[in-house]
Amino acid sequence: MKTPLSRSLSLRILLPVLGVQLLVFTLGGLLLDRAMKGYAQAHFQQHLAPLEALINTTLAPPLFSEDIGALKQRTLEIVDRTPLLAWLVVDDADDRPVARAGPAPDREQDRTRDLGQALAAGVYHTDFPVTLAGEEVGHAHIGVRLDTLRDYLARQERTLAGIGLATLAATGLLTGLLVWWRTRQLRELGEAAEAVTRGEMPPRLAARHGDEIGQLARSFNEMAGAIEDRTRAYEHERRQLQASEARQQELLVQSQRQQARFRALLSAMNLGILFETPDRRIEYVNPAFVEMWALDPELDLVGRPVAEVLEHSRHVFSRPMHSSRHVLQVEHTHEISEQFEIQLADGRILTQVSYPVHDEETRAIGRLWLYEDVTNERQTAEQLIYLAERDSLTGLYNRHRFQLEMERMIGMSQRFGHRFALLYFDLDEFKFVNDTYGHREGDTVLTRIAGELGQVVRKNDVLARLGGDEFAVVTLIDSDLEEVYQLAQRIVGAVARIPFRFRNQNIRITTSVGISIYPDLAADIETLVAQADAAMYQAKAQGKNTWSMYDRERDATSTMMAHMTWAQRIEHGLENDLFELHFQGVYRVSDRSLRHLEALVRLSDADTPGKLYMPGQFIPIAEKSGKILAIDQWVLRQVIALLARHPEMPPVAVNISGRSFDDPSLPQRIRQWLSEGGVDPGRLLVELTETAAVSDIQDAQRFIEALHQAGCTVCLDDFGAGFSSFAYLKHIAADVLKIDGQFIHDLPNNPENQIFLRAMLDVATGLHKTTVAEFVDSEAVFDMLGDFGIDLAQGYYLDKPRPDHPAIPDDAGS
Ligand code: C2E
Ligand code: MG
Ligand code: MG
Repeated sequence: MKTPLSRSLSLRILLPVLGVQLLVFTLGGLLLDRAMKGYAQAHFQQHLAPLEALINTTLAPPLFSEDIGALKQRTLEIVDRTPLLAWLVVDDADDRPVARAGPAPDREQDRTRDLGQALAAGVYHTDFPVTLAGEEVGHAHIGVRLDTLRDYLARQERTLAGIGLATLAATGLLTGLLVWWRTRQLRELGEAAEAVTRGEMPPRLAARHGDEIGQLARSFNEMAGAIEDRTRAYEHERRQLQASEARQQELLVQSQRQQARFRALLSAMNLGILFETPDRRIEYVNPAFVEMWALDPELDLVGRPVAEVLEHSRHVFSRPMHSSRHVLQVEHTHEISEQFEIQLADGRILTQVSYPVHDEETRAIGRLWLYEDVTNERQTAEQLIYLAERDSLTGLYNRHRFQLEMERMIGMSQRFGHRFALLYFDLDEFKFVNDTYGHREGDTVLTRIAGELGQVVRKNDVLARLGGDEFAVVTLIDSDLEEVYQLAQRIVGAVARIPFRFRNQNIRITTSVGISIYPDLAADIETLVAQADAAMYQAKAQGKNTWSMYDRERDATSTMMAHMTWAQRIEHGLENDLFELHFQGVYRVSDRSLRHLEALVRLSDADTPGKLYMPGQFIPIAEKSGKILAIDQWVLRQVIALLARHPEMPPVAVNISGRSFDDPSLPQRIRQWLSEGGVDPGRLLVELTETAAVSDIQDAQRFIEALHQAGCTVCLDDFGAGFSSFAYLKHIAADVLKIDGQFIHDLPNNPENQIFLRAMLDVATGLHKTTVAEFVDSEAVFDMLGDFGIDLAQGYYLDKPRPDHPAIPDDAGS
């Protein structure tokens, strides 16, 4: 058990010291007391002798004379006069008490002769013989008062005890202090040691003395220093370890996250991905790969040789030998592979490409294989090509394809000496049907007729709808012209035989076919078309529902315009100012407000006032002959002059032919005309057809760049009409995309066009282009545009091109 004593060294030193001191003081006190008492006794005895002498002297005579009366008298007087004497009893020689004074105890044993006892009792008893001349005459008993002595002794004792106690206390205190002070360092040492046990940093002790404790303190300090150094070093190491652990943890988390992101990314991709190790084993495949290769999703491919993929795949290649030689095989492992197309027996097409993968130190760590299922793209591309080359209403070739076919035929005949015939025809009563029964019926007529024509022509003939009710057939002449005439007759007959019934009326529609022969009659497409066209009018002149071979003689007798070739007509138009501009509004879909106008050129017939040739008739020819450059410039100057005259009118868009890209000075000239007219370049939009831009991307890029520098806005016209891929859009910095009318005009009834439109809009919005829809010719179409998110609309539903557009102030064209 721990008592304070066992715990405190000071107490343990202090208590014995105090004990010894107490003992010494007690002994000393006792000895002193005794000495004092002895001294007092001696002193008292000295005082006793004169008293005894006085008594002897006074009482001896009466005793001797046995004068009892006087004896008593003197006895009384002595006691009275001597304050020291408490009582006095006098015996005679026979020891009989004869006189007494004072309160003497009667019994002898009550009389205290021991000084110590007498001091306590207060009276000291003694006796002595009373002598006279050497003879004993009696005996005196006396009681000497001791109270004064006793008081004195008591006082001395108290003083002595006081001094003793004070000294004891003082020495105790002093010793205590001394011990406490000298053991302080031990305590500090103890506390410091305890602190060390608690794991705290040991405090430094003051080594005040050179003694053992001081030595101990110094040793302790040294030890503390060593502990501290070691603790610090340990702490430092621990912190570093912690920091590096934390850093490692962080890196681990980061890399785990990154891996998770990568995995999510790879899993979400439509691309099939396979990583192979340098020893051609599978390191990773993503879900798309597994699906694309028809692998068992349960099968764990990781670690297996790459070649096993094909063993596990359920695919059947359409060219097995060829495919197995290329799939997952590369000759030069350090190179990017060529793209390889894998055709599967089920009609699907996968593309394969692979890259060597290197780490940061460019060490090869394997190869990345990428697979893409391009079946849909291919189908879409085929469909797009189909659309780009087909007339959307009838499915026949369109003018674009027709033009290409003609070029091809000419190329063939030049090489192989073939002849071919162009049969050009329109429907005699189509305008009547359209105007009387409406467009829907007009469309029905066109589709029915297209269907019949398809039965009539031979497999290798080219049958096209050139627009409106115009059709053409190009047919190779195998032997003589008779087969051409028969074909023409079959066409005329087939059309005439189709029964139509509109609003309870039976209607017959006829056609007039004009024929020209290459190279017999015409040496170029332009002339061939012009001749066939003229021949068609000759057939009509013969009363319609018939065919006519181009006849130079007859053509010469027809009107001036009619027998001019188109090239001549354009030349003539430019010289005689026969071109004029019509304007059609482009409106905001959101609120139908006018955004700008599009200027569309027309050519008036010199001989037939009011007759206008539409651009479809002369622009392709003007483009071929190069006359288009003059037309474009004429239009630009007209429009800039108009804008200059009317600063408040809306901006105007002009169409510029692809041929104008060849003219590098045109943008500079536009800039000059604008500044001469003081026209803000922002008010001029330039429309370029997509087909023109795509066919010569580099020229188009340069041209657009120059237009942008001049401050004009660039619009890509007929967007979608000729595309094979959207990729070129990245290179053509057009601000506005005008989606081709073929995708727009029957939008509500044509789900396919809706899909294409959406795809085109995705691309357009992705590239932040403004979109315009042309050929908006009904409310239903217009209403749909808003849903698709198209910005602007243009079309007959909103307004038709006209020379006097309300947005142009009165003196327009003056
Ligand atoms: P474009 O630039 O795509 O012009 C739109 C054509 O669609 C115009 O025919 C216009 O009258 C017609 N259009 C507008 N709304 C509708 C509609 O709702 N339904 C239908 N069916 N047609 C509509 P246009 O005036 O015959 O012009 C044909 C093409 O000739 C133009 O196509 C443009 O490529 C070219 N063109 C017109 N004027 C010029 C010109 O000044 N210079 C050049 N280089 N080309 C021109
Ligand atoms: Mg246009
Ligand atoms: Mg257009």
